[in-house]
Amino acid sequence: MNSLTVSLGVHSPLTPELRDRILETTRARMEEPAYRLLSPEHLRGLARLESRDDPIISVYLRLTPERRATGGWKSVLSSLAHRTLLKSDSAASDSIRRQLDRIETALNEQLPELGRSVVFLVCERLGIWRQITLPIALADRIHVGPRPYIRPLLRCWGEGDRNVVALLSQERSRFFVEHLGQVEEINLVKGQRIRGMLTDRVPRDRRDVLATQVLKDEARALAQMAEIIMRELETSYLLVAAPPDMRAAFMEHLPKAIVENVQEFAADIHASPHAIGEALGALREKLRRDREAAVLQELEEAAFGKVAIGVQETLDCLREGRVAALVVDDRFAAPGEQCAECKALFQEAPGDGCPVCKSRELQNVDDLVDAAAQRALDSAARVAFMRHPETQARLGKFAPMSALLRY
Ligand SMILES: [Zn+2]
Repeated sequence: MNSLTVSLGVHSPLTPELRDRILETTRARMEEPAYRLLSPEHLRGLARLESRDDPIISVYLRLTPERRATGGWKSVLSSLAHRTLLKSDSAASDSIRRQLDRIETALNEQLPELGRSVVFLVCERLGIWRQITLPIALADRIHVGPRPYIRPLLRCWGEGDRNVVALLSQERSRFFVEHLGQVEEINLVKGQRIRGMLTDRVPRDRRDVLATQVLKDEARALAQMAEIIMRELETSYLLVAAPPDMRAAFMEHLPKAIVENVQEFAADIHASPHAIGEALGALREKLRRDREAAVLQELEEAAFGKVAIGVQETLDCLREGRVAALVVDDRFAAPGEQCAECKALFQEAPGDGCPVCKSRELQNVDDLVDAAAQRALDSAARVAFMRHPETQARLGKFAPMSALLRY
């Protein structure tokens, strides 16, 4: 999808109609069949999906350059499919086979141009067909169950993972969305050519005043655009590269909540998305570390009784709906048990049936973190994966899983 070009100036202000168009194109971008911009709203929608009769099939496939070039993804997909069909009962296997064939056909017809991984979440009976391309490499996997397998997606959606980038200047401004290092242009804004406006008919002493006013008007419109885009894409930071006078005027028109999340960097106004991604590398790393450290500090400073420490205590609090933020070392993964009746999660199988509801029916869960993250999402809790080596090392007694509690 091409970026939207907008012209701003004395004779073309940011009208309500223009705002609507910006809103529409930002939304349309996320509704593309192979959208790369997975928004938190999309993720919440995916987490709510459930199909009791016909399972939901989740397919994760890495698209490395070699796999693209040699068509190697086909053999990986077919061996994953083979193993999945061996494990599934004959009643479900026809439907699973049909859908895996459909996925292979879709990829044969058009392999996503960008991205390091492709994800499909499909269910024949519910008519669900979601294809998501992501800029990071996720492990190959096929999962079949009543709910989609979304843990790897949750990991791409940490706080600070999605930001708006603004390159501003008076004659030309550009807005981008940055998600996990991938930068995509969404709006190009053509501003006023100040030199052309200031003809000899404008008295010399009026020229500075007029020039300042033009800059201010443009900065205000740009600030409004930034606000719309940030709200729609639920981004964390606004990363700004601009000359000092434009930056000052722009910041003046931003709401206070956004000003607090502005970070400056340097980039040429004509830089390619790739070059912008490179220019942002160190800043992105620092922001991630700071965000994670802030969550960790909340844990460290939480009052007694407002924090769950360790895996089982956290799982218990999740069941009770008390978790406000789930904090997990990203390297942690472990199998566990789940009560089929009340859905309680256990790190170690309780010997005598479920201690909560006394049911004797316990099921294996291949990844407790996945189950816990899904639980957290169900109750609108935040999920914070600790990925930076510094914060991972600082977790201490909170490793590998803890939680901030609502009560
Ligand atoms: Zn139970």
